Amino acid sequence: MARIAYLECTNCGEQISADQPQTICPKDGGVLYVRYDLAGLKPTFTAASLFGRTPSMWRYAEVLPEAEPVSLAEGFTPMLPSREFPNVHIKDEALNPTGSFKARGMSAAVTMARAYGLKKLAVASAGNAASALAAYSAAAGIEAHIFMPRDAPLAQRVECESYGACVTLVDGLISDCERMIAERKEKEGWVDVSALKEPFRMEGKKTLGYEVAEQLAWRLPHGIIYSTGDGVGLIGMWKAFDEMQQLGWIGSERPQMIAVQAAGCAPIVEAWDEGKSSTDLWREADTLAAGMRVPKPYGDYLILDILKKSGGIALSVSDEEIMDALRHWAKVEGIFASPEGAAGLAAYRKLRANEFFAEKDTVVLFNTASGLKYLDVIEKHKRGAQRRSASRPLGGIIGPY
Ligand SMILES: [Zn+2]
Repeated sequence: MARIAYLECTNCGEQISADQPQTICPKDGGVLYVRYDLAGLKPTFTAASLFGRTPSMWRYAEVLPEAEPVSLAEGFTPMLPSREFPNVHIKDEALNPTGSFKARGMSAAVTMARAYGLKKLAVASAGNAASALAAYSAAAGIEAHIFMPRDAPLAQRVECESYGACVTLVDGLISDCERMIAERKEKEGWVDVSALKEPFRMEGKKTLGYEVAEQLAWRLPHGIIYSTGDGVGLIGMWKAFDEMQQLGWIGSERPQMIAVQAAGCAPIVEAWDEGKSSTDLWREADTLAAGMRVPKPYGDYLILDILKKSGGIALSVSDEEIMDALRHWAKVEGIFASPEGAAGLAAYRKLRANEFFAEKDTVVLFNTASGLKYLDVIEKHKRGAQRRSASRPLGGIIGPY
């Protein structure tokens, strides 16, 4: 772990060695950030030094854990110019292994798990993190124990089982899955790699920030719209921007960071609107965007702080707006997005309509995962919409269904 200087609590500033596996701050449960000797790296780790490197997230190896990577060639996904909006870029994370952005975090987390000699990993996931852990664990020869809500998209479960993971379907939400892991992990010898319960998924996710900067020729966009469940990517990108500034790759400019959530589970939006620095548990979370059914994100205080510092905002979009955006993206851009990814487009439309963003503003959206992982969800919604329109012979009436 030579490259890692120390782990630092985002809450109390406590510094902890990374020589042994760590989870959260032992004093106050704060999220731990991995810190590097960036001043020492600065003379040789330059933007120009990236030229010709591997087209995966491991091209930024100097600011990732120093261990033999467990890699399936994740990251360095395309940044597609929107065909519809001149200054919008769509980072297509569907092209990652396991078809989602969760591959980044799991590549880093499983890399470190193997380096530490861990044998059994567990995760609570509404979907994509589960199949990513299952795949990377298979690649590393480590046991994966998956806890997912019973109503998670079918593809995720089938993938996990195919990768040889041990899958437990839970009648409840991701918070119930987390509780089950917490109750059993000591006895079973599991290490919890749920979002922000260990420091390395963030390190993988932060490479989104490095790639956005590199792919936009080191000029950060005006805005970044991020579909926020656990929010690790948003937090990670912000960390990456700070690191890049210390490395001298970018200046002090920052994008406005926008958190979009589903109206049926919007704890960050609620806290933001009320000016709070942490969230209350969202009761009866209900949205077809499974990745955004996170009733209380563990890093809520970090997300809210970043929104504030960046001059950003939190907003919610309805399932109907999400599914409309999903179909629109597919038809207009040729991108078959996940509901969570499509939420970014729905948010962008709202932020253009209320003039938060102007046409000239460069904005990056993320298609977080492939729509192919949600065929059952998309088909079910379509059938429901057809049923609803058939049972409503009067045109033009839009009800709150
Ligand atoms: Zn602490």
